[in-house]
Amino acid sequence: MNTIKPQPGIMDIALYVGGKSSVDGMENVLKLSSNENPWGASEDAKEALVRASLSMHRYPSTDHGSLRDAIGDVWSLDPARIICGNGSGELLMMIAQAYAGKGDEVLFTEHGFAMYPIYANANGAEPVIVAERDRVVDVDALLSACTKKTKIVYIANPANPTGTMLGEADLTRLADGLPKGALLVLDGAYAEFVEGYDAGASLIDARDNVIMTRTFSKIYGLGGARIGWAYGPQQVIDVLMRLRGPFNLSAPALAAAEAAMRDVAHTEKCRIENAKQREWLAHALSEIGIPSDTSEANFILARFASEEEAKACNDYLTSQGILLRYVGNYGLPNCIRITVGDEASCRRVVHAIGQFKKGAKT
Ligand SMILES: *Cc1c(COP(=O)(O)O)cnc(C)c1O
Repeated sequence: MNTIKPQPGIMDIALYVGGKSSVDGMENVLKLSSNENPWGASEDAKEALVRASLSMHRYPSTDHGSLRDAIGDVWSLDPARIICGNGSGELLMMIAQAYAGKGDEVLFTEHGFAMYPIYANANGAEPVIVAERDRVVDVDALLSACTKKTKIVYIANPANPTGTMLGEADLTRLADGLPKGALLVLDGAYAEFVEGYDAGASLIDARDNVIMTRTFSKIYGLGGARIGWAYGPQQVIDVLMRLRGPFNLSAPALAAAEAAMRDVAHTEKCRIENAKQREWLAHALSEIGIPSDTSEANFILARFASEEEAKACNDYLTSQGILLRYVGNYGLPNCIRITVGDEASCRRVVHAIGQFKKGAKT
């Protein structure tokens, strides 16, 4: 028997479970469990991906220069301070790898994204869970939880799965209140859904302890292609560049991402349509007795009367071929997260939940 042992923390990792994507024996399944874009990627992005796939015998760009320039143009950021990753997940992990290890603490909040404790454990650091206030990140609680050992604070803004977000004043207070040597990571996976939000760019430019991560998986509709990016202080980006694999992004993915970034009209269309359908969905659910917090993202956190009701509703919808995300594992046992779909999907999900409320059984 081999006695080789993994590094401390790794066996504490509970495997991440993604949103379900199929139901046995059922066609025409409606997947609203992974916050994917129902309108898909930009046509330009799809064309660019196919074109790039014709040269797959060539290694991809190693500095991602052309994608970083496109991101810099669209978001008015310095490309030298942008790093691209294999999904934003790779960058979020690299941040922990770079700055948190044995004896260090990594903070995140009770309903925070399920990957944050994994990044801490994977690097032998201590995950620290901090309470929220009514499903909103609590800046005071985070600041009181900080110690000399705190190295990283991860928050998603807007947050997943709650959909709530902090305003600029709270973000500033959080960044300014962190102990020296700690880094605030603003996970901006849903930032593009918020009109006029810079995802923390101005906060980052004004200090040296904040970094933001972004993704092509949500509003850009490229979750399957695996592309994300981060923008932060030069010193932090220089560290991450050393950890990054030289060919971490495929050439087709790079081409698709660049075209998607430059197709500002498609992004804008998706943002506007999402906001419209989200408002309709939240209102229609509230009319049948299911409240939700105001969401700033592309999903709604539907609150049921009890854990039993939420689970039963989730099971009923699965039996009808509608996949949602039950979020008991996020400390929200009476809640289901519903991705905002196109108009027909929103109507279908509300109709099915209405049938459940009227007593329909699996
Ligand atoms: C979906 C999501 C991501 C994106 O992950 P990728 O690796 O970029 O696909 C990151 N953070 C949160 C909170 C998310 O919900």
